[in-house]
Amino acid sequence: MSTLYISHPDCIYHEVPLGHPESSARLQVIEAELKQQGMWDRVQHLVAPEATRDQLERVHSAHHIDRIFKAAPKSGLTPLDPDTSMGPHSLSAALHAAGALVIAVDKVIAGEVNNAFCAVRPPGHHAEHDRVMGFCLFNNVAVAAAHALAVHGLERVAILDFDVHHGNGTQDIFLDEPRVLFCSTHQHPFYPFTGMPVENKNIINVPLPAGSGGAVFRDAIEQIWLPAIEAFAPQMLFVSAGFDAHRDDPLAQLALDDADFEWVTETIVTLADRYCQGRIVSTLEGGYDEAALARCVRSHIAILANTRTSSTG
Ligand SMILES: [Zn+2]
Repeated sequence: MSTLYISHPDCIYHEVPLGHPESSARLQVIEAELKQQGMWDRVQHLVAPEATRDQLERVHSAHHIDRIFKAAPKSGLTPLDPDTSMGPHSLSAALHAAGALVIAVDKVIAGEVNNAFCAVRPPGHHAEHDRVMGFCLFNNVAVAAAHALAVHGLERVAILDFDVHHGNGTQDIFLDEPRVLFCSTHQHPFYPFTGMPVENKNIINVPLPAGSGGAVFRDAIEQIWLPAIEAFAPQMLFVSAGFDAHRDDPLAQLALDDADFEWVTETIVTLADRYCQGRIVSTLEGGYDEAALARCVRSHIAILANTRTSSTG
C-alpha cells in the first residue's frame, strides 16, 4: 500500500504563450524536487491513460468537448480565452490530465494504493460544464468525482479546493448534485470573481480577503469546512491542490506558508482516515512560484505517503 504519482509526458509538453505563468517548468521543478529530496522512489509511478469521451461527457457538454477537439492546432497556438490556449500537445495533455484522475480513482478504490497525486497540466477547476476558462480545458477533478459516483457506486464524495482562486468550474458542474460536497477557500474579490457563499447546502465557499495568512486560513477550514465535511460523511476525498495561496506566489495576495499547506494536508488525511478508509485523490491545480510550488508539492506527497488506511471495509 502506498501513494501513486500519476503524470504523462504530454502534460509537460502542453504549450502556452511565452512568459505564461502556467508553464512546463511547473511540472519539471516538482519532478526535480522529488528526486533531489528522495521522494521519487518512495511513491509508485503510473503513466496516465487518456480520459474517454464518455468519462468527459459526465461533466461537460458535447459542444464543449467538440470545441476543444476542433481547436487543437497542428502547429502554433490557438487562443480559446484571454488566459487559455492550445498548442499541438495540449489536447493530448488535457485528455491525459483527466485520465490521470480517472485511473487514480480506480486504483484507490480497488485498494491497490492508499491515495494518489496527479501531477498534471493543464489544471482543471475553472473549466465549467460548457466553458473553457482560466488555463483549464477539462475539469479534471470533476471528471474523477463523477467517475467515482457513476462507475464505483459511491454515494457521497467531497472535493476540497484550497487553490487561491475559486473553483468556479467545479461549482458550476456540481451545483445541483447533492452527492458532491464542494469546499473552497479562495481570495475574494479576485479572479474569477465568483465564490461567495450560496444557498446550495453542498457548496461551501469561504472567501478570504487579500492579505489573509495562515491563522485566517486555518480558522476557516476548522470553523466552516470541517463541520460541513463531518455532517456529509464523504466516502472519498478529492483535493484540488493549488499552491498559489502561498505568500511567494506572483499571481495572488494570500500569505500562506509551507507549514499551512502541510497542516491542511494533514487535516485532509485525518478526515480521509476517519470517513473514507483513507481514500484521497489529489490533483495539481495552480501554484506559480516555482520554488514554493516544488517544496509544497513534495511535502504534500510526503504526508500522503505516510498515511495508513484501515484494512477493514
Ligand atoms: Zn489558482
